[in-house]
Amino acid sequence: MHPAPSVAALRFAELEARLGSRARALTARKWLFGRGALGGRITGLSAKPGAALLAEAPLPSFERVARQVAPDGTTKLALGFPGATVEAVMIPGRGRSTVCLSSQAGCTRACTFCATARLGFTRNLSAAEIVLQYALAAREAPADAPARNVVFMGMGEPLDNLDAVLGAEAVLMEPPYPRLSPAHVTVSTSGVVPGMKRYLREGRGRLALSLNATTDALRRELMPHTRTWPIAALLGAIREAQAEDPAKSVFVEYVLWDGVNDSDAEAAALVALLDGIAAHVNLIPHNPVAGLPFAPSPVARVRAFQKRLADSGRRTIVRWPKGAGIAAACGQLANQVPAASVS
Ligand code: SAH
Repeated sequence: MHPAPSVAALRFAELEARLGSRARALTARKWLFGRGALGGRITGLSAKPGAALLAEAPLPSFERVARQVAPDGTTKLALGFPGATVEAVMIPGRGRSTVCLSSQAGCTRACTFCATARLGFTRNLSAAEIVLQYALAAREAPADAPARNVVFMGMGEPLDNLDAVLGAEAVLMEPPYPRLSPAHVTVSTSGVVPGMKRYLREGRGRLALSLNATTDALRRELMPHTRTWPIAALLGAIREAQAEDPAKSVFVEYVLWDGVNDSDAEAAALVALLDGIAAHVNLIPHNPVAGLPFAPSPVARVRAFQKRLADSGRRTIVRWPKGAGIAAACGQLANQVPAASVS
């Protein structure tokens, strides 16, 4: 199915063609990715070309269902699109903030530790809906820390909706504006080999593989829907791409669960698995999800695990939880909004 054109997903050349000049196309992009209201007219454009563009290629219809702000400034938006509610998160950083985007409403992957999995699957989002999430969440970033970093780590499996994800990242990276750096766009996957191969070929951002276990037996227990592709096949796809283009570095994500996958032996096994692969490791202490029998590894265990990796020469970062109190962290997006927090 070919999605209807939307101003949010049109490439710059198409905007230019429809509006008749580069300056107008830039004005339309600045309206979309600026700070002003995304109302019924394109601010800064004379009425006629702007109205014609919005008539032919409207913004996706959306509603801001909720907005929650955590004490650390992390802001979660619940956005209602036709037949689908999704969440996008703005995480303030020093000099640069991060926006975490959803690629699907719900998810088909039934990861046992993730709150989104329990929603089931509603539908794929369009490229325009993904770009619009960015545009709205980026408006929440502090003025001195614009949202120049994007991670597809919200709801959904991006590689199950890869056409839309590639379309959205192309718009977000496109010059002259907003021109995000490919180094600052990350697409995170539960591990879908055909999609990984395609993203490694066609995608311009960085792939992040949610490995989460060092044996197929444990990985199948935690992420049952990924049983089609054993760890060797997942890492094989990365090795293959890096053999062709050694500059294609990736991230490997590894959620740490107390007593499940956080032993020194598992750290050593992870080091061995990644041998010869150019990858930075992101360790994510489990973010609690009510009703799920998982606990985050204790801080000292996280540090010990990280040290093992670092001692082997592996660049390893711990993603300590952000957005406490508003369920905005990895794996916690489940469209649950306390009524009192809507603003
Ligand atoms: N489906 C994609 C992107 C969404 S999940 C994927 O699986 O990568 C984004 C990251 O959050 C993944 O690395 C996933 O392993 C992690 N995650 C999921 N649930 C989590 C939880 N409860 N605590 C911490 N990380 C979690």
